[in-house]
This record gives sequence, structure tokens and C-alpha cells, in this order.
Amino acid sequence: MNSKPTKLNRQLKPRIGAVDRRARTPVEPSSHSMEKLLHELRAHQIELEMQNEELQHARAALEASHNRYLNLYEFAPVGYLTLTPEGKIIEINLTAAALLGVQRSSLINHPFANLIAPQDSDRWYLLFKNALKHEGEQKNIELTIKRDDSHFYARLDCLRVMSDDQSPMLRITLTDITESKHAEEELRIAAVAFEAQEGIMITNADNLILRVNRAFTDITGYSAEELIGQTPRLFKSGYHDEAFYTDMWECINRTGSWQGEIWDQRKNGEIYPKWLTITAVKDSTGNITHYVGSQTDISVRKASEEEIKQLAYYDPLTALPNRRLLLDRLQQALATSTRSKKYGALLFIDLDNFKSLNDHLGHDMGDVLLQQVAQRLMDCVRKGDTVSRQGGDEFVIMLEELSKNIKEAAVKAKTIGEKIIISLNQAYQLTSHEYRNTPSIGITLFINHQHEINTLLKRADIAMYGAKAAGRNTLRFFDQDMQEAVTARAALEADLRFALIKNQFKLYFQRQTRHDGQTVGAEVLLRWEHPERGFVPPHEFIPLAEEIGLIMPVGQWVLEDTCAQLKRWESHAQTRDLQLAVNVSARQFHQPDFTEQVCAILNKSAIKADRLKLEFTESLVFDDIDDTIAKMERLKEIGVSFSIDDFGTGYSSLACLAQLPFDQLKIDQSFVHNIGVKPADTVIVQTIIGMASNLGMDIIAEGVETEEQRAFLELHGCLTYQGNLIGKAMSLEEFERSLGI
Ligand code: C2E
Ligand code: MG
Ligand code: MG
Repeated sequence: MNSKPTKLNRQLKPRIGAVDRRARTPVEPSSHSMEKLLHELRAHQIELEMQNEELQHARAALEASHNRYLNLYEFAPVGYLTLTPEGKIIEINLTAAALLGVQRSSLINHPFANLIAPQDSDRWYLLFKNALKHEGEQKNIELTIKRDDSHFYARLDCLRVMSDDQSPMLRITLTDITESKHAEEELRIAAVAFEAQEGIMITNADNLILRVNRAFTDITGYSAEELIGQTPRLFKSGYHDEAFYTDMWECINRTGSWQGEIWDQRKNGEIYPKWLTITAVKDSTGNITHYVGSQTDISVRKASEEEIKQLAYYDPLTALPNRRLLLDRLQQALATSTRSKKYGALLFIDLDNFKSLNDHLGHDMGDVLLQQVAQRLMDCVRKGDTVSRQGGDEFVIMLEELSKNIKEAAVKAKTIGEKIIISLNQAYQLTSHEYRNTPSIGITLFINHQHEINTLLKRADIAMYGAKAAGRNTLRFFDQDMQEAVTARAALEADLRFALIKNQFKLYFQRQTRHDGQTVGAEVLLRWEHPERGFVPPHEFIPLAEEIGLIMPVGQWVLEDTCAQLKRWESHAQTRDLQLAVNVSARQFHQPDFTEQVCAILNKSAIKADRLKLEFTESLVFDDIDDTIAKMERLKEIGVSFSIDDFGTGYSSLACLAQLPFDQLKIDQSFVHNIGVKPADTVIVQTIIGMASNLGMDIIAEGVETEEQRAFLELHGCLTYQGNLIGKAMSLEEFERSLGI
């Protein structure tokens, strides 16, 4: 056998030697026994070798398991440490050292209590003492533990164990619970916040309500049970249109949130304003998982804002805007007037003898009067106008957008001023007293930023003193010219009202003649002959008559007188076939019974209706085209004919014109005047003539003054003329004489 110099050999050698020593002295072994011994030895050696190998394996396994254990111990997810009964660290794993932020070597024999935050040291001490007393009983505690300059939260599970020398030790498992502690804290905060003043509603991504807080149920009046599973559409008040909600969701989806004022409905049906913030909650992949809506009921705040505004801008006694609000609105009105180029007016109203009412009947009565005056003033103006109280018995009214024309604006302001005077002159019922009072009114006009606001108010105030000086219960303008213009107009108006009764109107006739010299008729033109004013031209009194409604009786008179004249002319060969054209104004034509009036007049005069022609302008037609067509059709049925006056000066659409049953088209004199002067107008005249013939209408030119004009018209197909060339507007006598009667 080749014995190798193994470890086992080395171990066996001394043993063999020993056998040798023993064998040399007592007995010399025989070769047989020697062999047997060797055999035994060999078997023993093999056995030993095997045992040794097992031992080696066992040792390696032990070593590996030790290492595993060590790794598990050192790098366990929790810290392990062991304390002596004196509280010193005698053993600590790497995790614990890392948690404490200190080298392990510095921690050995270090008192553990030194690592505990001062606020927790008492609790630790008690637990430590307690834990050492009871073996096998696990105690745990949550502590704040210092680390560097900061701290962390730890949970300690402590178990008393006995050391080899039977002294008690404390084995501690140390877990960092900072994160869960923070999460818990946040949850606690969130729970408190959720139950805060604001109403909070959480929905899922499909907008179904998952949770609401107490404040939310308080605000809406619904219980949580009633809301969960519903959609927020339940709260819709109908106050906002679909576009509002579309914009809101578009904003949430684009930016992740939306906030704004929204009007919702409570369970009891009440609609209230709330301030709503909606935030989309997204998961880590960016998908929306929830929506959180928080809302505050702002109805109370709104109401108090309103109240503050009311106090700041309104007079508490009359609830009218105060001086401050008036100034504000006046500023805006000036800006508006700059754009629209329309005049506005300030009316300064002061009650006459208000002081004596206060003195005699007391301030309470004075207050009641002021309230009633406020109401009456409100009733005198349009919705957009401002009636304000300046204090005491002074009121200022601001009228806006009166007219582009200063005189017209003045007239309108005066009309309202007079309406106010009439209204404030009516008796007031002050509890048991009937009381009468009058106002004095000062007026000034405004446009642009021509004058400062305060200057305007001062002007109205000065004008009001002018009214007082003129005997009270009247109105005055600040501007002298305006005052004069308004006064003159008022006088004209007063005279006009009597003109009809006093027989001051006359009819004039202006001949209408064909190209062959035959007179086919005349236009009837109204004249006002005033004893002092002399002849008043129609453009001065007809618009005024329209405005004050006098055009109705006047127009009727013109028709009656014209028809009576036609009747008289029936007996003369020269006049029997003449047709008279009467101008009809818009207001007159749009009276609901206009056709009846005309029929009645025709019946009464018993003339043939085809002797009468009505003339009106394009603008009249388009005020109400259906009504116009209906009226024209009715009158045409009985034989009355129609002519469009001043054609070419309006903005008629040809499509509309073609629908209307006009017989004749009258080219406006401005175009006739420019024949041969302005090429454009010459072309217009030609075009109008062509158009009339295409529409199957007669054509007549008015204002024909020269032979050139007439010749041009004739050349282009217009064969009837009216104008100074043919004959001026004449009185009846002159006209009849010109016809040879
Ligand atoms: P209109 O109906 O266009 O009348 C034609 C006007 O032109 C008349 O002025 C007439 O005198 C004037 N005229 C006629 N030929 C010539 C001319 O060759 N040269 C010049 N420069 N002027 C000429 P008038 O009489 O002053 O009437 C003005 C307007 O008053 C009329 O315009 C008509 O719109 C209105 N009007 C007249 N009478 C009445 C009436 O009885 N009722 C209504 N509602 N309006 C009337
Ligand atoms: Mg006319
Ligand atoms: Mg005309």
C-alpha cells in the first residue's frame, strides 16, 4: 500500500511507533499477528479518514451556516441590539448602527438612553426597568431617536433574556417607523382637513360621488347616503348654460384644476353662489383617478358685499344712487358719448319750499315726501337713465344717448324735464296730509370729455338757480343759446297746436306734366301761413308735427281737403282728369286704421279713388314691410295709386322694393339737380329710369329746373316732370288760373 503523507498518516504515525515500543519490550509479534495488526490498522485508518472527511464537511457546513446567520443578523431589515442591565449596548448589528447613524465600534458600551430624544427619555426609562423584570415578556414602545442633528421614529420590541452568567439582558429589535409615522400624521391631518369648514366632495373618474364631508352635507342639505353614487349634476341650478360647464371641464382636463364662482341648487331648491375648486387626482401613470371638489358657500359674503355696496353707493332713505355713484356713472357716460357722439343731459332738480314742509310737518314727513319724489322721478325716465339723490331735497338725473344733434338732445331733455314738473306737481299723500310741492330744474347737456364732471354738475346747479329766479316750478338750461332754441321751439310747438283750428294751413299745388306738355296732375304741398311768423316752410314744422303726434290730424286734414278739391274739380274739363299726389308721413301711415281713414275720406268726398295718389319715402316702407304691403294692397284694390318719393336717397334693397306694389318712382331732386354736373349722379338717374321700366313702374323726376335736365330725362325715357321749370308750388287760385279756369 502506498501510504501518502496525509494528515491522517501524520496522526497515525505516533500510534504505530507506540505499538513498536510496546512490542519491542514484552513480546516480539509473530508474522501472522503482525499482518493482522496491520490489517486492523489499515481498517482503522480508513475509518478515521472517513470520519475526518465527514468532520470537514460538517465544519464547512457549519461555517457556511454561521456566515449566513451572520449576514442575516448584520443586514436584517431591522436593527438588533442587546443592552446590559445598566443600559449599555453590548451587541449591535450593522442595520441598527446604520439606523442610529453611528459607527458600531463607538456604540459598544455606549448607554442606549443617550440616543433617545429628551421628550421620550422618561418613557424609555420606565419601559427599560419594567422589561428587565419580566423574562420572556415582550414589551414594545415607539420612541423618537436622535440621529445626527435630526431624529427618527423607531419602534422598539424588547425582550429580556439571560446571559451565560445568568444576568438579565435586554434584546431589542429596532424598526424605523418614520415613514409610516409621517403617513399616519398626514392621514390624521387629512382627516381633520376633510372635516373642515369647506364642503368637500370626492368623485371617481366617472364623476360618481364617493365621499362627502359634513360641511358639504350641511351646505347642500343632502345626506351623505343620498349623495354617494350620484353625480354632481344633482346640484345644477340651471343658472349656467352648457358652454359654462364645457369650459370648466375643458380647463380641468387641460390644467388639472378649475376654480370659480358657480350657482348651485340646494336640496330645498334654493339657488346659492359658491366658490368651487375642482382638482383632478392622477395616478403615477398620469391617469385621472378621482376629482376632489371643495366649495365654500359665499351667499352670506355676497349678501354682505351687496350690503356694503348699497351703503357706499346708494342713498339709504330713497335707495337711489348717491352722489358717488352718479359721478361714477357720469364718467362712464362721458366715455360712451365720445364713442356714440350722442349728447346726454344732467337735470338738477330741487324741490321748492321743501324747508317749510320740514319745519311745519317735521322731518319724518319730509322723508316720506322725498321717498315719493324719488319714485315719481324713477317713473319719468327710461330704464338706463340714472336718478340720484345728492342729499337734502336735491336730485340729479342723468339722461344718456339723447341725440347727435344738440338741439334735438335739448328738446328731449326738456320734454323729460316737463314731464317731471307735471309729475311732481301732483298732490302727495303724506299719511293723513295731502301736500303739494313743485320743483325747479336746471339742465345742462354733455358730450365727450368737453367739461369736467364737477363743472357739469355746477352748470346744472346754476341753471337750477335760473329756474328758481324765473319764479320756480319751471326749468332752465345752463346754455343761453340752447335756452333760446328750446324756448323758440316751445313757442313754435304751441302755435302749431293751434294752426289747424285757426285755419292757418293751406294746400299748394305743384304741377306734374308730361313731355308733350300735358298736365297730368299735381303734388299737394302743405303750407303754414302764420299771422306773425309769415310763411313757415314744411321742413320746419313737419318733423315737429310728427314728433308731437300732430301729424295725424294734420295729415288727415290734407287728405280731406285734397279729396274735397278733387270733387270740386270734377265739374271742370281742365281738371276732371287730374291726379293729386299727397305726401304721407311714416307715423301717419303706420296708424293701424290708416286704410280705413283713407276709405272713409274717399267715401265722404265721393270721388274716384284713382284720382288720388299717395307718396311716401323709402324709409317709411322699411319700418314694417309686411304692414306696408298689406295696407298698399287694400288701397290699390279700390284704385288708389302709390309713388316712391325722394327715390335714391334711402337704402332700400331692390329685392324689397320689387315686392311693393308701387305705381310710380320719383327720382329725387338732388340727382336731377346734378344732371350734367356730377357724372356719377347722371349715371344714377339713367340707372333709376332703367330700373323703373324693368319693374314696370312709371317714372317722374322732381326738381326739374332747367331745359337741359328735362331734355336729358326725356332722352333717357323719363317722360313726366315736376319742378320749377314746369311750375312752382302754387296756391289754389294761382294753380287754377294757370290751368285756365
Ligand atoms: P317732397 O315731397 O319731396 O316735395 C318736393 C319738394 O321740393 C317741395 O318742397 C317742392 O316745393 C320742392 N320743389 C319742387 N320743385 C322744385 C325745384 O325745381 N327746385 C327746388 N329747389 N325745389 C323744388 P316743400 O313744399 O318745401 O316740401 C318739402 C317736403 O315737405 C316735401 O318733400 C314733403 O316731404 C314734405 N311735405 C310737404 N307737404 C306735406 C304734407 O302734406 N304731408 C307730409 N307728410 N309731408 C309734406
Ligand atoms: Mg313728395
Ligand atoms: Mg321729393
